[in-house]
Amino acid sequence: MTFYAECGVPTVINAAGTLTRLGGGPMRAEVSEAMTAAAQSSVDLVSLQAHASEVIAGITGAEAGIVTAGASAGLLLSAAACLTGLDPARMSRLPDTAGMAKEIIVARDHRNGYDHALRAAGARFVEVGLPDRSAKAGLRGTESWEIAAAFNERTVAVFYVAGCDSGPALAGVVDIAHAHSVPVIVDAAAQLPPQSNLVRFIEEGADLVAFSGGKAIGGPQASGILCGTRDLIMAAALQQMDLDVIDELWEPSAVLIDRNRLAGVPRHGIGRSCKVGKEEIAGLLTALQLFVAEGDENRHARWLADSRILASGLAAAKIEVSLLGADTVEAIPKAALQFPRGRESAAIDLIRALQDGEPSIAVDATDHSRGIVVFNPICLKPGEAETIVRTVLQWMLDRP
Ligand SMILES: *Cc1c(COP(=O)(O)O)cnc(C)c1O
Repeated sequence: MTFYAECGVPTVINAAGTLTRLGGGPMRAEVSEAMTAAAQSSVDLVSLQAHASEVIAGITGAEAGIVTAGASAGLLLSAAACLTGLDPARMSRLPDTAGMAKEIIVARDHRNGYDHALRAAGARFVEVGLPDRSAKAGLRGTESWEIAAAFNERTVAVFYVAGCDSGPALAGVVDIAHAHSVPVIVDAAAQLPPQSNLVRFIEEGADLVAFSGGKAIGGPQASGILCGTRDLIMAAALQQMDLDVIDELWEPSAVLIDRNRLAGVPRHGIGRSCKVGKEEIAGLLTALQLFVAEGDENRHARWLADSRILASGLAAAKIEVSLLGADTVEAIPKAALQFPRGRESAAIDLIRALQDGEPSIAVDATDHSRGIVVFNPICLKPGEAETIVRTVLQWMLDRP
């Protein structure tokens, strides 16, 4: 019996994608095996993170990197690093930033629920821009000059959410920030594929970039990557790690931590509550290397096979079916059902019926109000696409 059956908690057929509330993406057997093997021995965590730094630097082109407990944890550590630099006294104070420089500039239309992570470190957002395009009352998103006008001596970083279609372009934001000697933090949590994004934001000049490990990379659900400049990653690593150490005995790997630049041994920092274990580090590194080795083309073909089964099977439903992202290997190929005009509300009825069925089926409901139901193949197991087709066609037949 599987673990979930023993618990009496039903599993879900997941055509919604790598959502955290459904447990994230699937892990390959090699990833779980690496985690099991890593769990058998004790190891010095700083040395293991130093090794991770070299692997992550090699893949992203950044100077350094660490494995985090997810992209959100990476954002908290990023804000902490920008607030404290390498000062152990400031590290001890967070999230109390009274009297400290603590402003992070953010375009108003980049604000989102995940940015709690930056505020939790003690940073204060300075929102800029009048993105009246989003309100459909105008034409524009946030513009570079609006960001440029917000810098002052209290500014510690600029926060930028990659994939936000309102701009302004990252490279221009980086130029403005660097002219003020201020780093740029990029939330790239869900920006894979394409694989080229592993290097893109660093190439465009970002100082810290956070990715999720538990989405398309296929790592442990509670893992992520933070990569960036050597000093900021050192500051982030120090605030994440367990530092219950004795000064005379502390010999951290110089790859990650340069002891000579510290006024003293920092205590546990604000990131101690988002620690990563040796198992997550082993799993993430294994998954990351497999992700890179597979490449966009093979991954796209693997996902496309399931999306084709869905699209061709659902064609019998006699409503519009399309295959999205089939022609670009950089996209995730998905099948979509479009209910006709006037019957858009059938989408939410279908989604609810699938969710309440046995087995429960989760789909991408983002565009339900426009009558669209999307099927994402990333988390599907063999045979599940066929089950979804049968279930949807039966629902169509049974509907009054
Ligand atoms: C998923 C996501 C996160 C959080 O990533 P975790 O790895 O789950 O912590 C942050 N930002 C964005 C934009 C995301 O999509």
